[in-house]
Amino acid sequence: MPEHFEIGKTVLGRPIECLHFAPPAYAKPKAKALLFGAIHGDEPLGIYCLARLATELLAMAPGRETWIIPALNLDGVAGGSKNNANDVDLNRSFAAHNWSPDYKAGYFPGKSAEDQPEAQALSKLIEASGATRLIALHSPFRTVNWDGSGQALAEGMGQRNGYGASSDIGYPTPGSFGSKYGVDRDFEVITLEIPMLSDEEAWRENRSALRYALDLPE
Ligand SMILES: [Zn+2]
Repeated sequence: MPEHFEIGKTVLGRPIECLHFAPPAYAKPKAKALLFGAIHGDEPLGIYCLARLATELLAMAPGRETWIIPALNLDGVAGGSKNNANDVDLNRSFAAHNWSPDYKAGYFPGKSAEDQPEAQALSKLIEASGATRLIALHSPFRTVNWDGSGQALAEGMGQRNGYGASSDIGYPTPGSFGSKYGVDRDFEVITLEIPMLSDEEAWRENRSALRYALDLPE
């Protein structure tokens, strides 16, 4: 059974849950993986896909040590909003070189970098775990976007879900997760954008890509 623990609480005090899966004892050491959904609260397909993936991992351990946070921005999920309960776009709030206090309406990055508990909890887990294969699930585009050293992984995933791989999402993303961990630290960072499908279709399209990322038989 996976280890199950709380990595912190949201602005409104909701516990942010995490699952930890160990690889089989015979697995070769590989970069540790961390996947998370719903940094944007109005993008629930990632939550569904990660729940399905976690269920499959109960039957077969991943080929590398893996952490799964099905939903980071639980207050946003509860309220159906992209931003957290302080109206911060958490994907503009990370302490990246390009974090900026300037913002467009709807993209408030916080008063200072990583001043929000959800971003703090995620960053703390990344440091503590040593995970460097980092996969964020978003909607509603249809691409496997990569930062840092994530190109090969993105191409492999993009072949499997048919979305293709891209290094440019098409607009600036100051203070994004990918800026901090991909651009600044050269980790394998994937922004998986799932189009607006039904839950089941989203899982069907992305199952192989997600299993591939964890070295599971597809
Ligand atoms: Zn998003």
